[in-house]
Amino acid sequence: MEHDHINEEIRPVTLEEALAALNGSISRISETEEADLRAAYGRILAEDILAMRDQPPFPKSPLDGYAVRSEDTKGASKEAPVTLKVAAEVAAGNCFDRAIQRGEAVRIMTGAPIPDGADAIIGQEDTDYGEEHVNIYCEMKPYKNYICRGNEYKAGDVLLAEGSHIGPSEAGIIAGTGKRSVKVYRKSKVIIISTGDEIVMPGHELKDSQIYNSNLFTTEAQLIEWGVDVTSVFHVPDDPKEASAIIESHIEDVDMIVSIGGVSVGKKDIMHAVYDRLGIERLFWRVKIKPGMAMMAGTYDGKLVLSVSGNPYAAFADMQLITREAVQMLSGNDHLGMVSAKAILADAYDKKSPSRRFIRTCVEDGKAFIKGHTGGNNDITSGRGINALIDVPAGSDALDEGDEVTVLFI
Ligand code: AMP
Ligand code: MG
Repeated sequence: MEHDHINEEIRPVTLEEALAALNGSISRISETEEADLRAAYGRILAEDILAMRDQPPFPKSPLDGYAVRSEDTKGASKEAPVTLKVAAEVAAGNCFDRAIQRGEAVRIMTGAPIPDGADAIIGQEDTDYGEEHVNIYCEMKPYKNYICRGNEYKAGDVLLAEGSHIGPSEAGIIAGTGKRSVKVYRKSKVIIISTGDEIVMPGHELKDSQIYNSNLFTTEAQLIEWGVDVTSVFHVPDDPKEASAIIESHIEDVDMIVSIGGVSVGKKDIMHAVYDRLGIERLFWRVKIKPGMAMMAGTYDGKLVLSVSGNPYAAFADMQLITREAVQMLSGNDHLGMVSAKAILADAYDKKSPSRRFIRTCVEDGKAFIKGHTGGNNDITSGRGINALIDVPAGSDALDEGDEVTVLFI
């Protein structure tokens, strides 16, 4: 009987203790690879990105107008305009091939290089838009509307440090240096194993007393969102031999294994037997959080095995609160940390929270809405539209509408 393996003497740990145990057992991935910039989004930089040249590389016009010598505009006003000769027209991508002379202006477009000799750009709305000669209606101070070379950064400046997460802005910064590929850390590799005799993969016929495998998809989606390479997914019946065989044959090729279900105290909770069979060294079993209490974790062959609870929302909480941190530790991706904020509860929550509780919520304009999201842990639709979890401290009473709560954005 597999449940003979369950050692209920093991002391449940706090969330902090669980994370500390993981931290002590995970080393950050150090292997690197070169990635084309188009494939680098979401990756972690394994090199500093240095500026190769000044930005902008030439003095640049911030607007459409005329490049002038400010001293030529002295005393100009609408009533007494100064007239300058328009020597040329330059658009972004062109340049004027000589310095402008006293009494000259160059018609210039946004982003075009400012000709030598000019020290200000007058917006076209302060002129008569002249083509051969232009009337200037106001006096310009030196360096008015003048973007200096190197205004944004100088050659050699560190624009992004090793370890930075490459988001949309970072991708543009790298492209702005002229690099087409970057050195990044390799992605963490994970397999997922869902368990349960009653669970059927979508796409197959459902018989009486069976349910579809929803967790596998929710779990994989989260890992993908966190930049993980999910190399394979498996579903096994409640048979410790089958689950063990998969772990044993894949452990060498992955950084982490995530299993779903079978970690509670029932007869069919096979993960206890799996850990025993393989000699997976248990880091913790049961975390003092609700939902998701029945999580187990261990190390096997130097790799992490994370066994999240089976109930869909319990599995989700274990993924967000614990597995997400493990991925962060593996990848060094600080970007994965959950952002916390204060919010005002928009609806009441009538249950007490003897242990630390995480409630599904949608936070909008500083208000945390929970109506429609407080279903049971087995309820898969209650996660629809949520963007955060309310972190309710252990020992809290029921919550009232208007209470201030801490939310963690998912
Ligand atoms: P377990 O922890 O394995 O006893 O699972 C707890 C509850 O979650 C049971 O009602 C299971 O049927 C359900 N469950 C477990 N795994 C999944 C899954 N992959 N997809 C949907 N429901 C699941
Ligand atoms: Mg099960």
